[in-house]
Amino acid sequence: MERILPPQVNGEAFRGFVAEAQKAVGRDYVYLDLEWELPAYNDEYATLPKALHQPSAAVAPANVAQVQAVVRAAGRYGIPLWPISTGKNFAYGGPAPRLAGAVVLDLKRMNRILEVNEKHAYAVVEPGVSYMDMYRHLQSIGSKLWIDPAAPGWGGMLGNLVDHGAGYTPYGDHLLMQCGMEVVLADGTIAHTAMGALPGSRTTHLYKYGLGPWADGLFTQSNFGVVTRIGIWLMPEPPGYTPFMITYEREEDLYEVTERVRPLKLNNIIPNAATTVEMLWEAAVQKQRRHYHTGKGPLPESARKKLRADLQIGVWNFYGAVYGPAPIMENNLEIIRDSLTSIPGAKIYFDDDRKGDIGWEYRRQLMRGIPNMTEYNQMNWIPNGGHMDFSPISPVTGEDAMRQYSLIRDRVNRAGFDYIGEMLVGWRDMHHIFALVYDLQDEAEKRRANQLFGELIDAAAAEGYGEYRTHLDFMDKIAGTYNWNDAAQQRQRERLKDALDPSGILGPGKMGIWPQRLRKEGV
Ligand SMILES: Cc1cc2nc3c(=O)[nH]c(=O)nc-3n(C[C@H](O)[C@H](O)[C@H](O)COP(=O)(O)OP(=O)(O)OC[C@H]3O[C@@H](n4cnc5c(N)ncnc54)[C@H](O)[C@@H]3O)c2cc1C
Repeated sequence: MERILPPQVNGEAFRGFVAEAQKAVGRDYVYLDLEWELPAYNDEYATLPKALHQPSAAVAPANVAQVQAVVRAAGRYGIPLWPISTGKNFAYGGPAPRLAGAVVLDLKRMNRILEVNEKHAYAVVEPGVSYMDMYRHLQSIGSKLWIDPAAPGWGGMLGNLVDHGAGYTPYGDHLLMQCGMEVVLADGTIAHTAMGALPGSRTTHLYKYGLGPWADGLFTQSNFGVVTRIGIWLMPEPPGYTPFMITYEREEDLYEVTERVRPLKLNNIIPNAATTVEMLWEAAVQKQRRHYHTGKGPLPESARKKLRADLQIGVWNFYGAVYGPAPIMENNLEIIRDSLTSIPGAKIYFDDDRKGDIGWEYRRQLMRGIPNMTEYNQMNWIPNGGHMDFSPISPVTGEDAMRQYSLIRDRVNRAGFDYIGEMLVGWRDMHHIFALVYDLQDEAEKRRANQLFGELIDAAAAEGYGEYRTHLDFMDKIAGTYNWNDAAQQRQRERLKDALDPSGILGPGKMGIWPQRLRKEGV
């Protein structure tokens, strides 16, 4: 493996930066070894050559002063930095930078839980705090607060949130639950957002908006600053929790389920991020494909039928939960039961009915804020499995759910892959997550997966659907679909980028935003 330097940077400038970074954070925390250290910053699920996203070095500061020093040094030498927090953004690129040669700014050593406020139900964390860290901490202090983990419990509370991640409790929209932020800007200045900008503020983590434009969103899915701490609201433990699962027998039931879930979500009868899961997602977390079918191409109906029988699942499987005092849960469950189980063939299950079921158990945990890693089993569906997530947003209607499902499933099956998908219903939208699982040892299959992903983006955009988040390889392409009125939004973002980061050193290419000096590196 050869070192790839960032564009427009010569060896002398790179060495100058490395020397300053070593002075700032200590030699042990500047990673340069191409064989032993830097591979840790690759995207292990890459479908294209890893060199496209290979960093030239990684630097791991221990505190905000060190972040400032590294950012300032990067500015002096024109070195692009790619900030990561816990760096587990797998399915979207892992810890790897968008731009080959960028230096990864690895913040995982900044892992302090700065505050847990039991009275007002929030926490303040640095970037390196994972869901598991926070869960263990809350347990150890006897806290009555819940976290909302993404499916992989090793992910970071801050990193997931700034990439617009989602979880499964009523606090599943992570950015909505963020309140108060500290950011290091491209010139090394530290800024506090919203109420935190008032010296001595007593409400930094209680009111999101402060006075004037709400800036926090500008530092999410973006490259306008390095976020060094956030406040995040935590859910007070409710007096009761009843998770449930409803199975549906027919593919077309997705239409009716979605129609019926919409009012239940809008009226908060189901308060959590409820999820309709297709059967192969359920299967992939607990079975291996080869035990059901050894041929190529999508799984045949005979194998699907056997899987449904073995796992006692439907073609679609709806997961939700109710929370609160028993009378409220009973009342809401009655409404839910009336609505969702009157679809012919529907069966409802509770915890006692599904003891020992791996698929049920990890969802039961996620909907009550217990982090785990079970969903990673999906990678064992096929040998050498890797995956990328295709994640279009949909309105919560039966028609849209069916249209998106067919749009993706048909193309995916034609390309020889299984449709492994779920639809998470939020406040007004549905996140449709299609996990494209492929064999990392099969170069032709990886190429096909990459090509298919591009086709899905075009097909979804042609129907009026955009994605909420994406893998490094597709940031430019997806940003290019948000092009209304001669790409007015994109041009505005570029103007902001040039104003906030004139040397163009922070996260070049993140979500299709390039600094002026590198703009042609993009699409
Ligand atoms: C099997 C599987 C299941 C998954 N399930 C979910 C799920 O349920 N929900 C979900 O949301 N995701 C899910 N993911 C996607 C992803 O793995 C998680 O979101 C994970 O938490 C992201 O990694 P992280 O938290 O370590 O963030 P990081 O990798 O640290 O950060 C993510 C990105 O945010 C930006 N960033 C990070 N830190 C900073 C900072 N300090 N300043 C500025 N920008 C920054 C960078 O661009 C970085 O690449 C899943 C992935 C897999 C493989």
